[in-house]
Amino acid sequence: MRHALVTGANRGIGAAIADALRAQGYRVSGLSRTAGELPACDVTDAAAVGTAFAAARERHGPIEILVNNAGAAESAPFLQTDDALLDRMLDVNLRGAWHCSRAALPDMQAAGWGRIVNIASIAGLAGYPYVSAYCAAKHALVGLTRALAAELALKPATQAITVNALCPGYTDTDLAHDAARHIAARTGRSEAEALAGLAASNPQGRLLTSAEIAAAVLRLCGEDADAFTGQTLSLSN
Ligand code: NDP
Repeated sequence: MRHALVTGANRGIGAAIADALRAQGYRVSGLSRTAGELPACDVTDAAAVGTAFAAARERHGPIEILVNNAGAAESAPFLQTDDALLDRMLDVNLRGAWHCSRAALPDMQAAGWGRIVNIASIAGLAGYPYVSAYCAAKHALVGLTRALAAELALKPATQAITVNALCPGYTDTDLAHDAARHIAARTGRSEAEALAGLAASNPQGRLLTSAEIAAAVLRLCGEDADAFTGQTLSLSN
């Protein structure tokens, strides 16, 4: 089975994606910022990405599927969003995916087949208050998805490399619970009330599960999905 590499695979959505791929029989390299069987991979560090990807390749062969999942969401009103916060959001949510795509793409081009799935967000498709830096970074990730997909679709006779973005709404992970804690601290609402508000903002009226995001990733990685590229798949509207 093909070799799939997932970033930020130690918890949350990334862990669920790695588990789902393993359950389907893929050879999976689950990377994290802590060294384990593979070297630590902070996706903001291009050199660390290069080292970790080389080790993953050594272990499981050329990288055929890349899931750019590592990400973070910090919130603040726009006028309190300083350059350092903006840089942190761009570094992990945009540059991380950029570094990893650059490291994996030569393998896919050599094979003539590949899948890149970027875990963006509904904040990559619409604006939300108090998360301007996160929104800007996820919109940029959607832009990268579309541009790279268009570029890689120029050689349809020799390569089937697709690039797509998944755009989940609030999902039941540390990230959503941290957001609820932050809202509670700022508004005086209880954390449970804040979390219920986030859940209610999803059209499903509940938090999504990491397994639901993982199921969508499997679809995008399918052998029959060559024609599906440059798309943003919203799991929230
Ligand atoms: P979590 O906070 O639960 O997990 C984030 C993961 O990203 C962790 O594995 C974390 O590693 C990793 N990570 C963060 N920064 C880096 C970095 N610099 N280098 C490598 N890994 C890093 O969040 P989720 O699982 O919810 O989020 C996964 C993705 O889904 C993110 O891109 C997020 O923006 C997106 N998303 C999440 C939504 C939600 O409501 N939960 C909704 C829409 C999109 P570590 O353990 O070391 O911190």
